[in-house]
Amino acid sequence: MIRNISEIRPFEKKLYLSSPTMHGDELRYMTEAFETNWMSTVGKNIDEAENRAAEMIGVRYAVGLGCGTAALHLAIRLAAERLYGTPETGRGALAGHKAFCSDMTFDATVNPVAYEGGEAVFIDTERETWNMSPEALERAFSLYPDVRLVVAAHLYGTPAKIDELRAVADVHGALIVEDAAESFGATYKGRQTGGFGDYGVISFNGNKIITGSAGGMFLTDSKADADKVRKWSTQSREAAPWYQHAEMGYNYRMSNVIAGVVRGQLPYLQEHIDQKRAIYQRYREGLRGLPVSMNPYDEKNSVPNFWLSCLLLDEDVMCPAQRGELSYSYTSAPGKTCPDEILGALAALNAEGRPIWKPMHCQPIYRGHAFVAAEDGADVSADIFRRGLCLPSDNKMTEAQQSRVIDVIRRCFE
Ligand SMILES: *Cc1c(COP(=O)(O)O)cnc(C)c1O
Repeated sequence: MIRNISEIRPFEKKLYLSSPTMHGDELRYMTEAFETNWMSTVGKNIDEAENRAAEMIGVRYAVGLGCGTAALHLAIRLAAERLYGTPETGRGALAGHKAFCSDMTFDATVNPVAYEGGEAVFIDTERETWNMSPEALERAFSLYPDVRLVVAAHLYGTPAKIDELRAVADVHGALIVEDAAESFGATYKGRQTGGFGDYGVISFNGNKIITGSAGGMFLTDSKADADKVRKWSTQSREAAPWYQHAEMGYNYRMSNVIAGVVRGQLPYLQEHIDQKRAIYQRYREGLRGLPVSMNPYDEKNSVPNFWLSCLLLDEDVMCPAQRGELSYSYTSAPGKTCPDEILGALAALNAEGRPIWKPMHCQPIYRGHAFVAAEDGADVSADIFRRGLCLPSDNKMTEAQQSRVIDVIRRCFE
C-alpha cells in the first residue's frame, strides 16, 4: 500500500502513456501537399508513404487508408469473400459464419467481424507473449471445425507465436488476418510483423509508435488484393464515365496531408523503437526485486517494438480488489497492492498508466459470444487484466522522470 500519497509532487507537464513525437520532415511534406494543392486522397505523399512502408515491412503492396480499423475491415471482408463469395447487397460477407479472434486486444481488431455480419469467437491468451494461444486455437477448431478465419493481434508490440498459429490455421485451411497495429517494426524470426498474415494491417493512430495523427495501411503481396482494397476504399467506382457501382464501397482512403505526416515519421521508426526498448529495460532494472514481472516476449525468436511497457503483479502481493463494469474498489493492506492502486499513485504523479486492455469476452458488447481457453476453466486473459497494468511509455520520457515513476511504483509495495 502507498502511504502519504498526497505528498507526491506531480510533474508539471503530464507524462503520457504514449504520445506523438514529431521531428520536422512531417511539416515539410504536409506543406508540400498544401502548396501544390494536393489536398486530397491522391498525391505524392500517399505514393511515397505506401512504397516506403511496404519496403520496410517486406511486402509487395501497402494501401494507405483512413485508419487501421478501416484496413482491418477491408482485410476481413476480403478474406470473407475469398472464403464464402460476394454477399448480396446489404448482407455482410461473414453473415452466418464465425471467426476466431484474439481476446486480449483493442476492440478495433474484432469489430469488423461484426461489421460483416460474422460472429467472433474469442480465443484465450498464452502467458509467454500475451497473445492468442495456439493451444486454445487448436481446441477452438475441434469445437467449431467449420471456421476458416483467424484474426490475430500482436499486443503492445510483442509478436505472437506466429509459426504455431500458422501451423494450426493451415491444418484447417483457415486464413489469417494479422493485426500489427501496435507492432510496426517488431520482428519474428527476423521478419517484420504485418507480413505474416494472408492480409496484414498497421495503424498510424496518434498513440502508436509512429503516427500520421490518424491513418492505417492494408498489407499484401497480391496486386489484385491491393487493387481491390484501393477500389473499395474509394467507394468502389467502376471504370465508367459516370459514377458506376457494382460492389459495396467505402470512403476509407488516406488523405495526402496525413500521408505527409506518415512519410515524415517513417524514417524515425527505429529511433522510437530504440527509445522504447531503453524504457522497457530501465523499468526491468528499476523494478527488480519487487514481486512483479514485465510483459514477456520470446527472446529467442522475436524482437518486440516495445510500444508499451507493462507490469504483472504476482498473485500473492495482490490486495483484495474488485472491478465492476465502470468502476473499481480495493482494500489497501501493508505489503500488498493492486493495479488500480498503482494507477492512482501514477495519476498523483501526473503520469498516465492504463489497465491492461479489457478482454473482449468480458466486454458487454460481446457478452454471449463463445470464449475458448486452452483448457476447461482457464481464463488467462482475465487473469492478466486483473493483475496487470500499462506503464507510462512515452518515448520523450527522461531518465529522471522514469526514476520518479519507478520510485512511486516501488512505494506501492510498502
Ligand atoms: C490502434 C489499434 C487498432 C486500430 O487502429 P486505428 O488506426 O486507431 O483505427 C487496431 N488494432 C489494435 C490492436 C490497435 O491497437
